[in-house]
Amino acid sequence: MRTWSSVPLPHVPGVPRPLRLLDTSTGQVRPTAPGETARMYVCGITPYDATHLGHAATYLAFDLVNRVWRDNGHDVFYVQNVTDIDEPLLERAERDQDDWIVLGLRETALFREDMEALRVLPPREFVGAVESIPEIVEVIAKLLAAGAAYRADDPEFPDIYFDHTATGRFGYESKYDEPTMARFFAERGGDPDRPGKRHPLDALLWRCARPGEPSWEAELGAGRPGWHIECSAIAVNRLGMAFDVQGGGSDLIFPHHEYSAAHAEALAGTHPFARHYVHAGMIGLDGEKMSKSRGNLVFVSRLRADGVDTSAIRLALFAGHYRTDRAWTDSLLTEAQERLARWREAVSRSAGPAAEDTVARLRDHLSDDLDTPAALAAVDAWVAEALRGNGTDPSAPGLVRTAADALLGVEL
Ligand code: ZN
Repeated sequence: MRTWSSVPLPHVPGVPRPLRLLDTSTGQVRPTAPGETARMYVCGITPYDATHLGHAATYLAFDLVNRVWRDNGHDVFYVQNVTDIDEPLLERAERDQDDWIVLGLRETALFREDMEALRVLPPREFVGAVESIPEIVEVIAKLLAAGAAYRADDPEFPDIYFDHTATGRFGYESKYDEPTMARFFAERGGDPDRPGKRHPLDALLWRCARPGEPSWEAELGAGRPGWHIECSAIAVNRLGMAFDVQGGGSDLIFPHHEYSAAHAEALAGTHPFARHYVHAGMIGLDGEKMSKSRGNLVFVSRLRADGVDTSAIRLALFAGHYRTDRAWTDSLLTEAQERLARWREAVSRSAGPAAEDTVARLRDHLSDDLDTPAALAAVDAWVAEALRGNGTDPSAPGLVRTAADALLGVEL
């Protein structure tokens, strides 16, 4: 698929700081240790609705990972998928009497526009599930041949399932106990009660064609892929094993990331799939998680249409820590708009207090598991001094503007 356009990324003077991130599988904040090219995979959208602020918060968190790595001089090989064939897309198309292909293309186009408007650095490869079906089929065939997958005991629809015990490590990524796994598996798209499976926690790899459903001819028999194997195949075929960061929202910890890792590890015979599993918190509205099923969504495109500056959306979401579940409120946006106005006023002055220490603190906080609240506070402190008329350094406003742009993606 076509990715979206990039904004220029200015160079920030001073000394970059290596990035440390919390890894879900170990529960520890650990240094990321990318080579010359850092490798990141972030799970993409299922394009049946517009980008809401929960999506934006996730992609903005990983945009900061990208920016801190680039500040450290790494090239970043960033891959993101689009789940352009899956149950939720088909259900929405059915509900709205829409064509699922048209719906998917329309919402993917809107997502690209939203990401561009939010100044999110684009993935190098933006990959659809449909265009990846041949490579997904190849991976499933290998899992079958290796005995890590099997056909359901169902003569009519012998769907292919993954034996979740195949790697002997299942559960290492989420660290959830079996009752928690069972609950999330059932709540988040799994099919524990499907007859013909060997174990309720075995996950679907290939769904045989049903009448009236889209399907693709393949050596496995006509059908379509499951969700987790899509990300395993797309990630491993581009980034290899043991890539630096696998990212997504915290609702992907299980089952999605657990199975994506298990599928890839069973295929490769090596461990791990990713060195860090990194998860962003959920954004709530009116005390509830923002989600399609609850219908309480604030769309990025709606805010843009209302004339909201996307740098204010960044500042509003960065006011909380990326891992924290937090609420979107009108006052959060208002405060972010006021902060943006103060910052812009300060950098428009002809001089200000020397900003080298401010930029150093900004880097310190971002490299410390993306501590954006502290990073914003560091800039606030400089802005407050500048607005008091303190400081005579003529290069300081430009330095702060450059650092906010490159490290936070905020345009001043
Ligand atoms: Zn994924």
